[in-house]
Amino acid sequence: MPHRTTRHIGAALLTAALAGCTEAPPPPPARSEAARPDPLPGVQLGLDALRQQMFHVGAGRRLKPASWPGGGRVAVGLSFDVDNATATLSTGTLDYEVISRGEYGAVDGVPRLLRLLDRQQVPASFFIPAVSLELHPQMIKAIQASPLAHEVGVHGWIHERLPVLDNEQEERRLLDQSIETLTRLVGKRPVGYRAPSWKFSTFTLGQIVAAGFLYDSSLMASDDAYEIQLDGKPTGLVELPIERILDDFPYFGGNADGSNPSLGDVYEVFQSEFDVAYQEGGLFLLTLHPHLSGHRSRAAMLERLIAYMKGKPGVWFATHEQIARHVKALMKE
Ligand SMILES: [Zn+2]
Repeated sequence: MPHRTTRHIGAALLTAALAGCTEAPPPPPARSEAARPDPLPGVQLGLDALRQQMFHVGAGRRLKPASWPGGGRVAVGLSFDVDNATATLSTGTLDYEVISRGEYGAVDGVPRLLRLLDRQQVPASFFIPAVSLELHPQMIKAIQASPLAHEVGVHGWIHERLPVLDNEQEERRLLDQSIETLTRLVGKRPVGYRAPSWKFSTFTLGQIVAAGFLYDSSLMASDDAYEIQLDGKPTGLVELPIERILDDFPYFGGNADGSNPSLGDVYEVFQSEFDVAYQEGGLFLLTLHPHLSGHRSRAAMLERLIAYMKGKPGVWFATHEQIARHVKALMKE
């Protein structure tokens, strides 16, 4: 019915014109195939371009010592990413159910884990977004009250996802702010860096090398420590590799959202990873979040794991900084 269609379009134009008196209507969304971002740009690239992308951030020299201090067979580094509610706050999502779940990390998680570490006499590394520490400064008092000399490392300003920020200047500003804030609150300049959500932008590696960090712990190209390369060139920066397998988040947070009821399954994965590291003479780095693993049942699981590892001879428990300093010496050989 052409007549009705014409009238309909006319009415729409009239509405648009009237709306234009105050505010222009938004343009219609692009529908053509050409307007969409290419979902598979990699298929158009030649090998040189792919090589450049692949090795912008790459694994260099393996840093595997013949033995660890004290003749240890395996180095164990426990790290706690103290995100609490910052990842949620960074998105502006004021969902207080989720925010309070993060707050648990400061209220009960960190204190319980610190008590556990004291009981077991095991030092750890805490990677803390600067805002997380500003919002709950009692955490640094508690960390520093322990005689174990725990380490504090950088974990972003507000757990900003750097590839989403995708802005070189802003990223540098937030990195500088994070270093300054942690230096002031901790009383010592941090030497370790861990990217929020472990995600680098294309600017991150260049910026953390320029900032003079001893090590990064955001990548996972090996089970052993290695020297990171930037565009194929050695940087002198030690990578202490993490892994999603050795992280509580996929099991208890994120998509699992606490739905994984089997602590035994998670324990078995962690213990098997440790057993092979012990057998091969390697490195065992575990990443936990106080707002997830600071809960009673999960902290009990961690304590069981620590007790198991302590039951073997030749296990060196150390902070990430101590491990990085030990393997950094291999770069001079
Ligand atoms: Zn984090």
